[in-house]
Amino acid sequence: MNTCPQAKLEMQILLPKDVVRKLRAPMLRAGRREIGGMIMGEDLGDQRFRIVDFSVDAVSGTRSNFVRNAAQHDQALAAFFDRTGADYERFNYLGEWHTHPSFSVHPSLQDVHAMQDLVDGSGGVRFAFLLIARLRWHWWFEASTHLFVQGHVPTPVDLILEPDMLEP
Ligand SMILES: [Zn+2]
Repeated sequence: MNTCPQAKLEMQILLPKDVVRKLRAPMLRAGRREIGGMIMGEDLGDQRFRIVDFSVDAVSGTRSNFVRNAAQHDQALAAFFDRTGADYERFNYLGEWHTHPSFSVHPSLQDVHAMQDLVDGSGGVRFAFLLIARLRWHWWFEASTHLFVQGHVPTPVDLILEPDMLEP
């Protein structure tokens, strides 16, 4: 098994509390069905990325699988670029997210294959994060993040919950 070069750097994904708050509502509504979409974020430099927005496809998933509707999410990404002034170096697509309401937040074999297809494919995506989340007992937000890089095995990445910047 070859190791991912990024694993040696201390890569971090920051997840602000207000984003978690926005994720909760569709997660609660979906119940035991998997939902998900894309994650968009900010490159903070030094291998740190902050999730600032996400798209949601609340209808395509089942209890054990989620594959997002591509067209709907392209629109969400275009809107994100609009809002962030087309500053692609700083604000861009970060990867994918979906829920595992009935399973651990570890990526399934199917998840790993889908993400590897994404970064190994012809879509121009060379690396992407996969965030998997679930609500335990309807409120406790649990999540994992993995980094997928073209030609490498997936690597777990530290996910850091950020305090709400609006709170004192
Ligand atoms: Zn999954």
